[in-house]
This record gives sequence, structure tokens and C-alpha cells, in this order.
Amino acid sequence: RHALIGGGTGFIGKGLSKHLIKNGYDITVISRMPGLNRITWLDVERNGIPNGITSVVNLAGQNVLDPSRRWTDGFKQNVWTSRVNTSAALVKAISAAPQVKAFVNISGVSHYKPDNKRIYTENDTVQGFDFMSKLCLEWEKAATLPPEITHCRGIKIRTGVVIARTGGMIQNIWLPFQLGLGGPLGNGKQFLPWIHLHDLCRLIQHSIETDKIDGVLNAVAPEMVTNSEFSKAFASALRRPCLFPVPEFVVQAIFGKDRSALLLTGAKIKPERTWESGFSYQYPSAKEACLEVVQKR
Ligand code: NDP
Repeated sequence: RHALIGGGTGFIGKGLSKHLIKNGYDITVISRMPGLNRITWLDVERNGIPNGITSVVNLAGQNVLDPSRRWTDGFKQNVWTSRVNTSAALVKAISAAPQVKAFVNISGVSHYKPDNKRIYTENDTVQGFDFMSKLCLEWEKAATLPPEITHCRGIKIRTGVVIARTGGMIQNIWLPFQLGLGGPLGNGKQFLPWIHLHDLCRLIQHSIETDKIDGVLNAVAPEMVTNSEFSKAFASALRRPCLFPVPEFVVQAIFGKDRSALLLTGAKIKPERTWESGFSYQYPSAKEACLEVVQKR
């Protein structure tokens, strides 16, 4: 078993590589930078998928919430093409690589429009209503294998915010919460779909190894919490108070309107097809996930 991971150098990619290696896989990463056990996107374009690769995962994407980058047209284009073009390049290469049996594309959940009452599943129709939702739609379209490809299953994982000590949201909020200065974003009532990194890696492995799985899977924990509930669970795991909300205008001033929607709004999402596929969560509640994250090692 040999997996090829686009964007395997990033936060989720490193966690996934470690997880798959532990479970007996060989790993090759696709990166913009050549290196040991790496190939570049240009190699994929020129030479296709290397022999021996049996599954492909795409985790490539310019970091959207990089506060040091202004939300300019150029940056937006990078955010877009780093996802859509890499997924399209992999579909093209996989079409000519009969040894590949599973292609897992990881996108976000922005195409579920926030709605106070509605609970979404993978079976709901999704629509583009802002930059991030339109990006998610185009990204999944680019990641769709053409119907004539029968040697490979296409799995589209839509993931909530990924929770782990090693990066992502937790790394950004760690210091203020550790200092007792943490709190929810905005009014905190927005839903925060989330998943523990370990469960996401297990779900990717489960999708690669389960022959009947294809199509969309929601990678969100079964416990639906608001931003405020999650913040309280995290503060409590750190044994700190959760007193200082970050006002909406501050988030908007740092990230601009398009990007702050990722932090200030959120939909209620159920992992229905994920359950039906036989997957079981190791960290189903925010309390359990946060306790694992703050554990001393
Ligand atoms: P990271 O930013 O940590 O890593 C992404 C990887 O993508 C990088 O290691 C980099 O690899 C590659 N990359 C960055 N910019 C470009 C570019 N312009 N062109 C091609 N490749 C690029 O992201 P995460 O691991 O956190 O996330 C992985 C994917 O999952 C992303 O698409 C993200 O949108 C999605 N996701 C993440 C969530 C989270 O909570 N972390 C939640 C929902 C979705 P290299 O430098 O080696 O080329």
C-alpha cells in the first residue's frame, strides 16, 4: 500500500503521513519543493502518477486564514488555483494510472449555507453564495473523476475545522487561552463544525480501504457545538476562564469580509453518510477532543 499525498507537507498532511505510516503504508508527498520522498506538481504533470501508488489524497491549498496576507485579488486567485488546479491535475493523472484505486479530495464545509434551523447532510444540494462556497463547489467539480474511469473510486471529504495540538485553529488560539484571555469569536452563537485530526486521518484511511465508499462524506464530529461552546470546552480543558470574546469588527478588520465568514458564521452539519459507511469516532465530543489536545506529552 502506497499513498501519494498532495500538500502532504502541511498541518493535516503531516498528521496523515504519520498515521498512514503507522498503519503500514509507504508515503510519497507532492510538494512545490523537491525533497526526499517527494515529487513536485510538475513531475505529476510530466510523468503522471508513479508506479506502485495505490491511493491519492489531495490536501494542497494556500492557507486562507494567513493573517499576514492581505485579501487581494492576487491572493484570492492563489487560494483558488492552489485547490482547483491541483485537484484537476490529479484527476487527469489518475485517469491514466490504473494502479490507483482511491482518490480522496479534502475540501471545507463552506458550501453549507449557515441557517439557524436547518441541519445539513451530504445528501443536501449545496450552492455557491459567496467566495468560499463557490470555491468549494469548483474544487469538488475539479476533483470529480470522469464517469468512464472505473478503476478508481472518488471520495470527497468535506471537513470542519481540524483540531490538534500541532497546527490549525488550536495553534492560533492557544496563547490567548493559555493566558486566560480567550473567548468566543463574535457573539459565539455561530456553529463550529469541527473534527479531531486523528479522526480525520482515520476517516481518510477508512475511505481508502472500504471498497463500497465513494462520493461525499462529511468529516465533522457528531456533537454539534457553537463557537462559544467550543471555546468553553477548550478553556475548561486548559483550566482557564473563557471571558473575553473577540468582537466581530476586530475579526473583520484582521481578515476582511470574505474570510471572516469562515470564523463568524457556520452551519449545522451531520456526518450521515460517514456514519452509514461504518465509521466510528474516537473523539465524538468537543470535551474529549480538547482534553486530548491539551494533554502533556
Ligand atoms: P496547510 O496550509 O498546513 O498545508 C497545505 C499545503 O498545501 C502546504 O503544505 C503546501 O505544500 C501546499 N500549498 C500551499 N500553497 C500552495 C499553492 N499556492 N499551490 C500549491 N500547493 C500549495 O493546510 P492544512 O493542512 O491545514 O489544510 C489542508 C487542506 O484542507 C487545505 O486545502 C484546507 O483548505 C483544507 N481544510 C483545512 C482545515 C483545517 O482546519 N486545517 C479545515 C477545512 C479544510 P508545499 O509548500 O509543500 O507545496
